Amino acid sequence: MQRILDPAQIEGLTARSVPRLLAPDPARLYARRAARLRALAAQDSLGGYLGFAAAIAAAQHEAAAAIAPALPDPAALARAREHGMPPLPAQGLARGAEWRAALQCIVGELARSTAFPPAVAAVCARLRDAAPAALEAMATRLLAADGTDPDPAAAPFVAAALQVYWSALAARLDVAAFAPTAPSATCPACGSAPVASIVKSAAPSSGYRYLHCALCATEWHRVRVECTACGATQGVAYQSIEGGPAAIRAESCDGCRRYRKIFYAEHDPEVEPLADDLASIALDLLLADAGFARASANPLLWQPPG
Ligand code: FE
Ligand code: FE
Repeated sequence: MQRILDPAQIEGLTARSVPRLLAPDPARLYARRAARLRALAAQDSLGGYLGFAAAIAAAQHEAAAAIAPALPDPAALARAREHGMPPLPAQGLARGAEWRAALQCIVGELARSTAFPPAVAAVCARLRDAAPAALEAMATRLLAADGTDPDPAAAPFVAAALQVYWSALAARLDVAAFAPTAPSATCPACGSAPVASIVKSAAPSSGYRYLHCALCATEWHRVRVECTACGATQGVAYQSIEGGPAAIRAESCDGCRRYRKIFYAEHDPEVEPLADDLASIALDLLLADAGFARASANPLLWQPPG
């Protein structure tokens, strides 16, 4: 007997054969991101900015090798699993001091470079000399992600250190245990918003779309042609720059008027969600002109002090 499956049933089959969650690998993640940013910087009018982001990612690689934070205790992890809560919540997890060690490593690396404007060295010096309590307050404010950060010049450095810390934790997590059972708009590991999504080209995830966490870099499966902000399946459209790379589009939603970028590894195997998002600001301008708002921010976007 032949049966015809509807899309929901096909999605159900997907759940059994395709990993729902992909853990980050900090030993490769930041080096790969730095290389991608350097390559994009060489061919882009935003080169200076992307070069700065590449230096941050390279420093994150050093920092990731230097810290080994401990996961929450097994009872806390079991409780999170039981209640369907992220086990490493960006808001609420008792952060270890390791993230501040990562920050000092990053600002130390950046301060050594003479390639950047003096404002960069000034922010590095300020963060190097800041009291732990002040840094903790900055981190808490940043992780609240409410768009009210009063210190945007320091934000990418603090965000970069928090990424190193959270990705180190997520890498140690048994991620399969936290795979979402329903489509999730936020990271199943840490509860943060995704920076963008990527359609994979390598087995076993080939052809499947994953959201990439802006904080811990965990990736989680989400069906294609579905608004990643509000879940709508109607009114989803794909926009790209005419004559631009085939690997980059924006997935916009007529319902909530928001968008996120979607990258296609089949068109460019080097594509990296955070790096390529930063390097495709022309697409953000196009979407802003069309009246769409970004669904969430890129943590490495640096706003120099006014
Ligand atoms: Fe996360
Ligand atoms: Fe939407």
